[in-house]
Amino acid sequence: MSKRIAGPEIERLIQLLAKVPGLGPRSARRAALHLIKKKEQLLAPLSVAMADAVDKVRVCSTCGNVDTSDPCTICTDERRDRSLLIVVEDVSDLWALERSGAMNARYHVLGGTLSPLDGVGPDDLTIAKLVSRVAEGEVKEVILAVNATVEGQTTAHYITDQLSGLGARVTRLAHGVPVGGELDYLDEGTIAAALKSRTAF
Ligand code: ZN
Repeated sequence: MSKRIAGPEIERLIQLLAKVPGLGPRSARRAALHLIKKKEQLLAPLSVAMADAVDKVRVCSTCGNVDTSDPCTICTDERRDRSLLIVVEDVSDLWALERSGAMNARYHVLGGTLSPLDGVGPDDLTIAKLVSRVAEGEVKEVILAVNATVEGQTTAHYITDQLSGLGARVTRLAHGVPVGGELDYLDEGTIAAALKSRTAF
């Protein structure tokens, strides 16, 4: 066992920081030391911000987004096009799409993908809720913005089946060459998908 170099409060801080995505044990130590050195400017306000978040963060009962209000800021934003609904696997995908600023739509967070091998079935995701949202009739287009993985595409097919007959157009993201991408560096699957989904110039 390695020797302890700090008291239990600091060790605990390091252990918890090490669980943050992108931080391993070494970066966690560096981050903890930085926070401790900046106790007044950073550590104290961070602990207040975290306590506030623990108090106030909730999951939107309409779309599955996380926010401090339910329904969330996006669901209650009257300037958004209520006829457009973008389906994503996770809140991180919702945030990524919002960063692009390309759409002024509302969202539906599935909470994962169908994965029979891992025991994830339709009832483990928010698919039934999605179907009932679309059945209300306001949504005219459902954009399936799921990942281009086997599970993502399986989920997209399943959802398309579930939404058939509800009167909404179901679309999916284009697959292909990334913006700024060079063909020479792409894998065969991506090139094949890009050729299949080619568009008029
Ligand atoms: Zn919401």
